[in-house]
Amino acid sequence: MMKTYDVIIIGGGPAAIVTGVTVKKFFKDKSVLMIKEEADGLVPCGIPYIFHLLGNDAEKNKMGPKPFIDLGGEVLVDTAVKVDKDKKEVTLKSGVQFVYEKLVFATGSHPTVPDFIPGYELQNVFYIKKSYPYIRELALKMSGFKNIVIVGGGFIGAEVAEQLAASDANVTLIESEPLCFSKAFSPELSAIATDALSNTRVNIMTSTLVKEILGENNMVKQVLLADGKKIDADAVIFSIGYTANTQLAKETGLELNRYGDIHVDNYGRSTIRDISACGDCAQAFGFLTGRSNVIKLASTATAEARTLGHNIFGVRIKKCAAGTLGVFSTEINNLAMAAAGANENSAQEAGVSLLSAKFSSPDRHPGSLSDVSSLTVKLYASPVDGSIIGGEAWGGKSVGEIINIISMAIQKSITVFELVSYQVGTHPLLTSSPVNNPIIRAAEELVYQISYS
Ligand SMILES: Cc1cc2nc3c(=O)[nH]c(=O)nc-3n(C[C@H](O)[C@H](O)[C@H](O)COP(=O)(O)OP(=O)(O)OC[C@H]3O[C@@H](n4cnc5c(N)ncnc54)[C@H](O)[C@@H]3O)c2cc1C
Repeated sequence: MMKTYDVIIIGGGPAAIVTGVTVKKFFKDKSVLMIKEEADGLVPCGIPYIFHLLGNDAEKNKMGPKPFIDLGGEVLVDTAVKVDKDKKEVTLKSGVQFVYEKLVFATGSHPTVPDFIPGYELQNVFYIKKSYPYIRELALKMSGFKNIVIVGGGFIGAEVAEQLAASDANVTLIESEPLCFSKAFSPELSAIATDALSNTRVNIMTSTLVKEILGENNMVKQVLLADGKKIDADAVIFSIGYTANTQLAKETGLELNRYGDIHVDNYGRSTIRDISACGDCAQAFGFLTGRSNVIKLASTATAEARTLGHNIFGVRIKKCAAGTLGVFSTEINNLAMAAAGANENSAQEAGVSLLSAKFSSPDRHPGSLSDVSSLTVKLYASPVDGSIIGGEAWGGKSVGEIINIISMAIQKSITVFELVSYQVGTHPLLTSSPVNNPIIRAAEELVYQISYS
């Protein structure tokens, strides 16, 4: 007799854990099983810091489903290999089978493998996989390499490059675009971020294409560039994007979108009854356009997981999906940088007009205090109604939460006119001066552009 669970979650990353925690917290009596293929997990966003700040010790970046287990959730380490949507059965690699009432795909994503670049399968070609055993091995191996080439200057490639270069390795970062971070940031902030990275020991090569990985005895030896130049390499790390793990979903009969992500509605429900999906494996919607896009972030994954958890047994929180804002932050060479929502590039691509304004001030007051950093806020507003549709911030650590205020403003369509009377708590040791709050001052500049000029 097969055991039946009210909810079975396939996956063990942030989306699976938050779905499990939400269901067990709000539906205490429901039985929930999480099936995850690896026993140990890690904080995905902390992976780059294993390579230096955490002393090459992956153990210090472990993450697991304890909060879910503490609420009464069950976890099984195994791989789901088959789903029969008619019998509502899941079959695991070990042969064990379960019946589900509701099934959640939280199967995440894996690094994109560049099979179009000859030599990609050589030994010492690596990826930033979200796998604890793989990253633990990789961190140990990395300390033995002198010349490391990282391909891809998105935030993951850049963060890993910065950390590896802080050890003794010669690290070269190759990016095909003229600037690093260009998918995450506006051209202005991408230039600032690229500059911050170039002031570390990382050797950055932008507008550069990799043609081939050259080997000797099946081992990486050099990287051949499109212009014919060769770079010595003991190891190559490809960081050129992530692809959804949706093979099982496809075999189950779920509809996938053109990016291969599981098609879901505002509540995470797939096209098959009682099967839902969230996180990197599920379709994301642009908050302005409603079009599917490929933003894969933990911020998105966990928001989708909470939405799904609350609504899994019927809609309880109506229209709670805001669309994907793409709110994201990073720190390179002690400069914190963050973005949310639209910028010049994404707005132009979507045919949406925007106005922008920025303001800089010290993040403490008076500016003569010892731990002061400059804080710059750039806001993007719609000229149609003055609503905030994007923002960026850079400076000291406060940037990490400043962008979350901007994200809330975007999600709630707060206008620049409303921000004029925005009341902020201030303290000399904690915040900018109330006279020069950068969010308010940038908003006032936008009020001027819309109403006075
Ligand atoms: C180096 C790095 C840094 C990042 N930094 C940030 C950041 O700073 N901020 C941010 O917002 N985002 C960041 N991200 C993105 C973020 O990590 C992902 O968006 C997030 O991990 C998605 O969570 P998920 O649970 O959907 O998928 P995943 O984390 O990919 O987890 C999916 C899980 O499902 C398991 N699984 C898959 N198939 C099966 C199966 N058939 N049976 C059982 N188990 C299965 C996998 O083993 C895996 O554990 C970063 C990503 C990386 C790689």
